[in-house]
Amino acid sequence: MTDDHRPVYKRVLVKLSGEALLGSQSYGVDPVALTRIARDIRDINAMGVEVALVIGGGNIFRGAGLAQLGMDRVTGDQIGMLATVINALAMQDALERLGVFCRVMSALKINQVCEDYIRRRAIRHLEKGRVVVFAAGTGNPFFTTDSAASLRAIEIGADVMLKATKVDGVFDADPVSNPDAHRYERISYDQVFAKNLAVMDATAIVMCRDNNIPLQVFNLNNEGDLMRAIEGEPVGTVVERGEA
Ligand code: UDP
Repeated sequence: MTDDHRPVYKRVLVKLSGEALLGSQSYGVDPVALTRIARDIRDINAMGVEVALVIGGGNIFRGAGLAQLGMDRVTGDQIGMLATVINALAMQDALERLGVFCRVMSALKINQVCEDYIRRRAIRHLEKGRVVVFAAGTGNPFFTTDSAASLRAIEIGADVMLKATKVDGVFDADPVSNPDAHRYERISYDQVFAKNLAVMDATAIVMCRDNNIPLQVFNLNNEGDLMRAIEGEPVGTVVERGEA
């Protein structure tokens, strides 16, 4: 990485939905999409930024979807959490193939395939320049990986939570169905609630707001946007505390 790339953050938490790994597929992990994201992660890690990742599981299973089909919700959520472990292992593999040191840490104990989540150990990995992938969400049913991402971001003292989406940030209407939708450059957590904007679930928003951690929402499909966000450029939407 050249000197013109200067990070404004020391430690970040990146949240990817399971959908990000779908690529051109309708289910599972697309190796092309996985490798492209892994390259972005490698590039910001190479800038000296400490990178933690939380990956969802929606490309494989979601508890709510399984419950709709008649399954017990808690069992469905456990299956969903295991799906996030699959994605985390796939990401670890992709990163290692690019020469990046990586550790998967799971909120559920599966310590023959990855490490258990231990906060101090996670921070030590980050300090040593390893990418840490937090798997199995919070380890509890009825939560989401957005909430897990907020929780881990706070626990590890991340400077910012970077949430990757399919659109360019937070809009006042769905930008896919409404071409006149307006994108916010900055908005407060309270406005997100007041306007009922679909950014993350309420638990995740409250966690970030009450612990004063900024959230930057960016489009994963825009090549280079993650890097630009790390360099402090006004990419996507920044959600923060106070009047914005
Ligand atoms: N999940 C859970 N507890 C958590 C995080 C996730 O039970 O703390 C389950 C839940 O069933 C969820 C699934 O794991 O539907 C996958 O996570 P999520 O839906 O957040 O993935 P994403 O939408 O980001 O792909």
